[in-house]
Amino acid sequence: MKIQFFGAARQVTGSCYYVETEGGRFIVDCGLFQERPFLERNWAPFPIPPENLDFVLLTHVHLDHSGLLPKLIREGFRGEILATPASVDLLPIVLLDSAKVQGEDAAYKKKRHQKEDRTSRYPEIPLYTEAEAARVSAYLKPVSYGKGIVRGRNISIRFHDAGHILGSAMIEINVRENRRSLKVLFSGDIGQRRKPLIRDPEIFDQADSLIMESTYGDRNHEDPADIATLLVEFISQTASRGGRLIVPVFAVERAQEFLFYLSRLVREKRIPALPVFLDSPMATDVMEVFLRHPESLDEETTALFRKGESPFHFPGLRIVRTQEESKALNSLRRPAIILAGSGMCTGGRIKHHLRHHISRPESTILFVGYQAAGTLGRQILDGAAEVRIFGEMHAVRAKIASIQMFSGHADRDDLLDWLANFRQPYPSIFLTHGENDAAAFLAGAIKKNIGASVQIPEYRDLWEVKV
Ligand code: ZN
Repeated sequence: MKIQFFGAARQVTGSCYYVETEGGRFIVDCGLFQERPFLERNWAPFPIPPENLDFVLLTHVHLDHSGLLPKLIREGFRGEILATPASVDLLPIVLLDSAKVQGEDAAYKKKRHQKEDRTSRYPEIPLYTEAEAARVSAYLKPVSYGKGIVRGRNISIRFHDAGHILGSAMIEINVRENRRSLKVLFSGDIGQRRKPLIRDPEIFDQADSLIMESTYGDRNHEDPADIATLLVEFISQTASRGGRLIVPVFAVERAQEFLFYLSRLVREKRIPALPVFLDSPMATDVMEVFLRHPESLDEETTALFRKGESPFHFPGLRIVRTQEESKALNSLRRPAIILAGSGMCTGGRIKHHLRHHISRPESTILFVGYQAAGTLGRQILDGAAEVRIFGEMHAVRAKIASIQMFSGHADRDDLLDWLANFRQPYPSIFLTHGENDAAAFLAGAIKKNIGASVQIPEYRDLWEVKV
């Protein structure tokens, strides 16, 4: 069995691992590269001709794991894409949005280059169109958690809950080669235990090889218990000033998680009674997918639904669908909470809300997600005195706040605790999906703690996994 690393190798995006066994050829994930200077890889031909692949296994729908699937199909892949039922429902929503954003980016880039009279290193056309994104649905095949299925010759596959986002999976693969069996585990992104809504990551005690993420391999998160306390403080202060609390949210998971906390504070009467507007059609669509997949929810959340206390349905929550309804929020003159995308303020309805509120000292802009370098969100968070929104400069006078404890990833101690469940002989470990420092630190800790063999593969490295 051979494994080749075509992404998320000493970096955190572009997850794609090619596996070749006697019984078949496939990839695990087909992710978009989102970090400079690796963006060019999105445009290069696939390192393996897509028509030679028998199937694709998808760990979860985040774009850095799924975002190149439309391109894979356009370039000739004709097999099945196996994913959990929740991922099968989420993926079309995520890919369609990705195609839209890429279309807008390409149009904007073209306009800017014409104005500046220069040519680009990247094409000014979208990586794929909305029609190409829509085509992926026909190839999706749902596989429930825990159910063993066989593909190719003697390749058995089983999805396990990764507790990272709705539908996220770790994938166990068993193959027989030379009359011996080999068990390889792909961790996907490993979630945080204690996270609301979804279940905790599953644990394992045996594997021959483990391909494991290391995003937070060198860091621990702060205490999540403080999220509610900070929220109460920001909401109460903003309401007492008569302002609006504007929250940029990622549509998958973060928006729903934020609603989970809000619903609890509303029911416990720890915050003033305010209208809460979910002004993100995509987050609303994702919320409906959550409701269709009780198998992915944790016991605490299931119990809330049973009591009739849905985190997605509480006094004050209003769903905003149309653009007109969204615009009408501008004339609101009383305290309110507005959630809108995109999460890093690079597009979407949040930019309109920021334009209206960023210069109002009574309002608060609250960040609850990672803000990448170069985004509008990052500029505001870093304390810019004024920012450009839709081509106009706006002074930043609103209060800027952030809660950085929301994270979809296990931290260093969580990763080591998860690994501690394995028994001897330990798997040979390949650390992926982490920047150099994070992966190297985690590798050191693993060697010290359990003495397992650890590799940190580089882009295109090829490993033979021996039976
Ligand atoms: Zn992820």
